[in-house]
Amino acid sequence: MTLEEAYRLYPDLEWYDNHRMTVSQQCNRKGYWHLVGPAGIGLAIEVGAAAKFGSSFHNALRAYYQGLIDDPKAEHHDLLGLALTAFHEYHLKHVYPPYEERYGVEQGMRKLVRYLDHFQGEDALYRPIKAEAGSAALITPPTGAPFIYAWRLDLLVETRDGLAVKETKTAGNAGTRIQRLKMQRQVRGYVWGAQRVSDIPVTGALLDVVSTAKNVKPEDEFLRDRLFLNNRQLDEWYDETIELVRDWRDRKARYFSTGNLSVFPKQTEECMSYGRCVFWDLCYYGASETRLGEFTQDKWNPLNILEEN
Ligand code: SF4
Repeated sequence: MTLEEAYRLYPDLEWYDNHRMTVSQQCNRKGYWHLVGPAGIGLAIEVGAAAKFGSSFHNALRAYYQGLIDDPKAEHHDLLGLALTAFHEYHLKHVYPPYEERYGVEQGMRKLVRYLDHFQGEDALYRPIKAEAGSAALITPPTGAPFIYAWRLDLLVETRDGLAVKETKTAGNAGTRIQRLKMQRQVRGYVWGAQRVSDIPVTGALLDVVSTAKNVKPEDEFLRDRLFLNNRQLDEWYDETIELVRDWRDRKARYFSTGNLSVFPKQTEECMSYGRCVFWDLCYYGASETRLGEFTQDKWNPLNILEEN
């Protein structure tokens, strides 16, 4: 079903997406701050320049491939123009200085041109079907209430081996990132979801990573790999999703009945992953009113795409 249908048909059901699952799994306490919150409303996580640079890149690729879907005979340089405009607009609106030079608008536009030129020949082997495709599924676990799982794919492409979910990431080390992607729940969830809404078999993913490392060698700047996923792997993703939701619901229920924050243990190995965790002060010094006042409320709801999130 579409995101709008899920929102309209199941307004009272809990929803989960990859972000919600990942945050609560990475660190239960982070899940508490972000998804539950001391006043019953989660605290928003502001992302930094690196993530917003990545979003600028996504915006540009969406414009490029949507241009190709709209006109399969479109010229590469015309599509490049669409992509560059989209990158520029998004970057100007969302990436504020100060930021490292590698996340600058000019560096990003040059990298975008190199990326699209680099894969121009290979891209001709795939037919883009849908860009930024959002959908949702109703999951009914053996125990407990049903819930909605929502996802938004970068791109769905037709390959000679069936459909594939194309997922692009920006990262420091492209080689490490692509290996992580192969195992990550996000990609598996996207493939599981795409299978649910497609009449044609979805056989896996087309992964690519754009390195944003300083002084990266040309041969290490862009990596792409095809990932095939079988039914066993996707069934495993489904079963694990149900277990993770059950675990999260149990924690929340124990917290609401006891008020004991220890039901959300701190995963301290995560505190400095991707830079210092935004909730570090709350965990280290305590959640005073002043510190809590530095956060805004988290209003993200992937189903409610018609209203400002
Ligand atoms: S600071 Fe560490 S323990 Fe606290 S929420 Fe962040 S990752 Fe978890």
